[in-house]
Amino acid sequence: MAMVTEKMIDEWVAEHKQEMIDELLAWVSHPSVSRADLAAPNAPYGEDCRKMLDFALAEGKRFGFRTEDYEGYCGAVISGDKKREIGLVAHLDVVPEGEGWLYSPYEPVVVNDFMVGRGCSDNKGPGVLGLYLLKFFRDNEVPFNSTLRLMMGCAEETGMADFKHYIDVLHGPVPEVSLVTDCSFPVCYAQKGGFDAAFMIPAGANIVEFKAGLVRNSVPDLATVTISGITAEDARAALEGVPKVEIAKAGEYIQLLAHGKAGHAAFPDHGEKKNAIVLAADALVVLQEKTGLDLRGGKFISERFVTPFGDGLDIQFEDEMSGELTINAGVIKKVGDMLHLDIDIRYPVTDDDQDIQAKLEKAAKEADGELVEVGISHPFYIDPESPMVSALMSAYKDITGDDSKPYSMGGGTYSRVIPNGISFGPGLAVGSHKPEFMPEGHGSAHGLDETLSIEDWLTAFKIYALALVKLDAALDEMQ
Ligand SMILES: [Zn+2]
Repeated sequence: MAMVTEKMIDEWVAEHKQEMIDELLAWVSHPSVSRADLAAPNAPYGEDCRKMLDFALAEGKRFGFRTEDYEGYCGAVISGDKKREIGLVAHLDVVPEGEGWLYSPYEPVVVNDFMVGRGCSDNKGPGVLGLYLLKFFRDNEVPFNSTLRLMMGCAEETGMADFKHYIDVLHGPVPEVSLVTDCSFPVCYAQKGGFDAAFMIPAGANIVEFKAGLVRNSVPDLATVTISGITAEDARAALEGVPKVEIAKAGEYIQLLAHGKAGHAAFPDHGEKKNAIVLAADALVVLQEKTGLDLRGGKFISERFVTPFGDGLDIQFEDEMSGELTINAGVIKKVGDMLHLDIDIRYPVTDDDQDIQAKLEKAAKEADGELVEVGISHPFYIDPESPMVSALMSAYKDITGDDSKPYSMGGGTYSRVIPNGISFGPGLAVGSHKPEFMPEGHGSAHGLDETLSIEDWLTAFKIYALALVKLDAALDEMQ
């Protein structure tokens, strides 16, 4: 039996560094983009994810651990036989590589102490760390009162249906506490909830088409509305002085183009409007007032999305631990006589999703429309003063010397899906190594030529090793 010291972790990591790098190179060579559209029996996210999961589980077995496969949604590598479990959670799926790589996305290489390849940092690097953490504790016979469960999902990047299915349908084992290794250090103690839905609203007789946006979680920068019953000259005259819109002829109709500014749905700012759908809707209101055309769908959007903070829908809310509610009109199209508008709401930890839903339904009904396709991801919160968080914070500080405090965020990780899943690392809060050799726009997690600093990765290993020991002890004390 061995007590874990920093020195012991350092020595073990130095001895195993090359082996860990080789392991990660093998993982990154799998092009495991999550493809629910290519689902097959036992492979709900396509053959590539299935092969990646098979490989990770085979490696777990080769290391001498037990493994479990949850119908291809996710899998686990398990070490120990204690009743209480601590989880380590990573994902094996990657975002599509995109065009313009300087390196080969699935033939990873090591350059200047950085690995380059799709998924090396998000999130296969942390997956390999999990496997080696299990090995580290087992090989060194570190006494643990918890079984360690490395949980690996195959659809994190596409909405986390993998672990939703694991929890809700397969009722897979849920550890007492889990570390979600897909974020930044130190501890993320709060994540806003996610409320996705779509409004179906009567467009109005003179709206022929209304198009904008590709995904609900981005602010669209261009919206186009095709309008009947008016000439381009008359429309231009009516819209004199209305900002950020222009009118073009489109056959027998006219087209209104609104120019906004792209951005992430979770981070709107106060001040001038940037959402092209809302800018177009504001112009439609003016046009309707001045010409008598029926453009009522525009009026609904203009009034209900008057701010990106929910004021127009009476759902504005703010709390100290997680900030303001945000709402984004992400994608719009015309379906029959109706406008179909996809929205993305991030609601504060202490907010009430039922109340939000009731108010959105009321607004839709008042416009003779309805609210459809509601999907809710509950917020995450853990008391930043709790013994579990204290254990993690102290391990982080011991290894890095950094005094950063626990933080909150609007984005979502598996913490929203896996009960008691605390997002903790592996990105370093301070002093992280940047891939200086990469040109502008290359080297980031979802970008071209994704990189992983091997030094930072090994630092994360040390933090996790110490944190798991402290967490196990904190759980002993809580019982
Ligand atoms: Zn990720």
